Amino acid sequence: MNRNRNPSHTPLPAGVNRRGFLKWGSILAGTAAVAGPGVFYGLRAVTESPVVDEKVVWTTCNVNCGSRCPLRAHVRDGLVTRIETDNTGDGDFGTHEIRACLRGRSMRRWAYSPERLKYPMKRVGKRGEGRFERISWDEALDIVSSELRRIIDTYGNEAVYRHYGSGVLGGIVARREFFHRLVNLLGGSLNYYGDYSMAQITAAMEYTYGAKYDECNANPISDVANCELAVFFGNNPAATRMSGGGSMYDLLRARRKSGVRVIVIDPRFSDTAATFADEWIPIRPGTDAALVAGLAFVLITEKLVDEDFLHRYCVGYDQETMPPGIPYGHAYRDYILGTGPDRIRKTPDWAASITGIPATRIRELAREIGTAKPCYIAQGWGPQRQACGEQTARSIAMLPILTGNVGIQGGNTGDREGFFRIPFPLVPEGENPVRTSIPVFAWTRAVDDPLSMTATRDGVRNKEQLDTPVKFIWNHAGNALINQHSDCRRTAEILRDDTKCEMIVVLDNYMTSSAKFADILLPCCTCLEEEDIVFQGYAMEMGFLVCTEAAVAPFYESRTLYDIVRGMARRLGVDEEFSLGMDRRGWLEYMYAKCREVKPELPPTFAEAQKVGLFKWKRPDPPEVMYREFRENPEAHPLNTPSGRIEIFSERLWELARTWELPEDDSITALPEYHPTWEGAEQARSGPYPLQLIGHHYKQRTHSSYGNVDWLQQVAPQEAWINSLDAETRDIRHNDMVRVFNDRGETRVRAKVTERIMPGVVTLPQGAWLKPDGNGVDRNGCINVLTSLRTSPLAKGNPQHTNLVQVEKVREEAEQC
Ligand code: SF4
Repeated sequence: MNRNRNPSHTPLPAGVNRRGFLKWGSILAGTAAVAGPGVFYGLRAVTESPVVDEKVVWTTCNVNCGSRCPLRAHVRDGLVTRIETDNTGDGDFGTHEIRACLRGRSMRRWAYSPERLKYPMKRVGKRGEGRFERISWDEALDIVSSELRRIIDTYGNEAVYRHYGSGVLGGIVARREFFHRLVNLLGGSLNYYGDYSMAQITAAMEYTYGAKYDECNANPISDVANCELAVFFGNNPAATRMSGGGSMYDLLRARRKSGVRVIVIDPRFSDTAATFADEWIPIRPGTDAALVAGLAFVLITEKLVDEDFLHRYCVGYDQETMPPGIPYGHAYRDYILGTGPDRIRKTPDWAASITGIPATRIRELAREIGTAKPCYIAQGWGPQRQACGEQTARSIAMLPILTGNVGIQGGNTGDREGFFRIPFPLVPEGENPVRTSIPVFAWTRAVDDPLSMTATRDGVRNKEQLDTPVKFIWNHAGNALINQHSDCRRTAEILRDDTKCEMIVVLDNYMTSSAKFADILLPCCTCLEEEDIVFQGYAMEMGFLVCTEAAVAPFYESRTLYDIVRGMARRLGVDEEFSLGMDRRGWLEYMYAKCREVKPELPPTFAEAQKVGLFKWKRPDPPEVMYREFRENPEAHPLNTPSGRIEIFSERLWELARTWELPEDDSITALPEYHPTWEGAEQARSGPYPLQLIGHHYKQRTHSSYGNVDWLQQVAPQEAWINSLDAETRDIRHNDMVRVFNDRGETRVRAKVTERIMPGVVTLPQGAWLKPDGNGVDRNGCINVLTSLRTSPLAKGNPQHTNLVQVEKVREEAEQC
């Protein structure tokens, strides 16, 4: 092969000459000295030079796995020919290469996939049919702008809803903020709170620790190096944090260092369980709170709790720490020991009958947790994505609280592992004059039956009752209109009625199932087609910044978000305030200057930073211990809870439990308690649908992003995991086509018969693209044809792992019919 090798063996990136390279080297060396030790700057490619006539540019993977890996795109004749991962850094963890996973590395295949949208289009058939005709950009922007104006004038600003979309969370200038900025200048739009990833745990940690959304509330996973035992509830970084910058390697390294036992509690033998765990404890979905209660019973009765910690730092453990005015018998200890209102002793035998875990193992586990000093306990976001997920998350947090493992090295809060973050800025949105906010998962109600939504029943915030229907939806880089929302059939019914929501605008790269519900469909650039500034996501031991370049020209007529929204701003008469007179490049330079306020050692201009590409900062030592200051002096450093302490008993929840309207089988309680739920483990044993269905994150996709990449489909095919016992009773063999169904819908998919899922439970990798046949039966394993639109009680979040189903083998003749 003809390679143009650099004779000095110090290859330079395309477009950078040796003089420029040396200049940057000297600038960086100088600033590193100013910034002090521990700061490292990654320089550009340090392996082979590109092929002749090929350029290599920095880009990133911006999907919502949270890692935002830097990538190097090889470009020839205006086409991306190859994607490589980061190759800067050294062997020292914290200044290492941020290795992208197989998804980011297949970005070329994704960007050039047949589903790419090429032109602006408008709907010509019924909404949802997927029939469109090509229109010009001028016509598209005229329609979208005039409809936005009409709907604001007719219904008011609360009729405008900017829907949740997480497909481009990486780039500062590619993200959603520009539309928010525009609509805020027009009087604002209906807000939402929460997200589809962690609504319930966010609420749980807020009520327990006063933790704020999106702020770190845990020790890093590297703290496993300092513990005597690590227990993970449903946490699976091996699949959810696959980047070389993420927690997977951090855990591996920490475990090597400490050699501690790792226990994973999960209905599924996940990749983390398979790779890291000394023991996998299978548990029925949605019953973690019962397990914790059983463990707490042993901890309390065998005096393994940290009484000093509970009395000094917590509210509600026992009568002594209860808030005044609460009747006797409502402390946590009462709940566990059976002296509370329900009079049930939460013994290991009681917990065993609910969780499916033998009582002897529960007893032993409690003793292991109670005697390991310190013990690192964390939960992933799967256990909380349940019908009563807030109770699950609060309950799991009880284990480190009971054992005094909060605020110390090697311990944790019970939340998901923490991460290192450098606070780079986002595009300023301006202020939204509309204060009303709905739970993100309840948006279909706001379209379908808005006037029935209240503060005390549906979690509407800043208004007693919603009084305006959603009439305009802006859906940018999101597939939660259909695919990633629940109950696809019902959701499609709601959206099909265009007398309800009158205008749906979708901006995307692909003809997703959500895009099919657009009235106006606008093709956006991928990150290969636009330059941007991207900062670290879940990079555990380092922060980083990537100043990317456009690798290739926009695909057909695709445009950047900024250019689209600015086109609207011009039509709506607010261009000056919106743009501040800057084009997209101007905004990049402006935002880059803001980044330099955070890290002044960055090169002076964005153009200069693009020549370098990637910048890395090693995490300061030692890693943070969450709530260390509170532990050292709770009076001087109170928590953000009303009491300033850890609230095992929450007076706020006590009040909500009495004032909120809930369906009979939902509950909010002041203490973290176990309550059976609708479509839970108990109902599975008595109702028509005997199998609990959960979803899991899958290496083939990030949610639905990359779901259409054939390479990835071959590597990790879509399969319904079913235990061999359940398969045998249904005459199902590995790779048989099965129908997974309930009253909400049906999907057909190949069966993976495996011992890696516990009996009584089926799991489908979430995010598969909905592909309904003529009968409305999905043929691609999309889990959301089976999930429910019901919300969780407190956060009003998405309980997408609470489902009951039946599974049957598809007989050949039946399939032909
Ligand atoms: S999907 Fe996540 S881990 Fe994989 S390349 Fe993209 S950002 Fe990195």
